[in-house]
Amino acid sequence: MSTNSDPMVKCPICGFLYYHYTNIVCPRCNFDKQDISQNESLYAITATIAQKDAEIERLREAHPRAFKLMKKEKFFLVVAIDEPYFINVYDTIRAHEKAKGTWTKKDEIAWFELTRDGAI
Ligand SMILES: [Zn+2]
Repeated sequence: MSTNSDPMVKCPICGFLYYHYTNIVCPRCNFDKQDISQNESLYAITATIAQKDAEIERLREAHPRAFKLMKKEKFFLVVAIDEPYFINVYDTIRAHEKAKGTWTKKDEIAWFELTRDGAI
């Protein structure tokens, strides 16, 4: 932690340690700690990007298959669990994937958890 008597300061942008008595700006990235408005803008932008990244990561963990398909830029259908035909679509996918041999134990557990009596 830096105090007023500490001759070293850590650049908030690049993390470089430098003598604030002899350097007004960071010698590595030229960040000017005197420029408060620049400072506040950079912190606000960095915080906003970090929040958006965290939200995207949360969604990616919740829906990994959707992200995989979006990355491939393939057309795909979305069937919400509360649609009356959800179970028909899910069963069709299950039968097809089982015939292909690509239906995993993990898929079967997920299918069972969603389709057992009263789950949907
Ligand atoms: Zn710097």
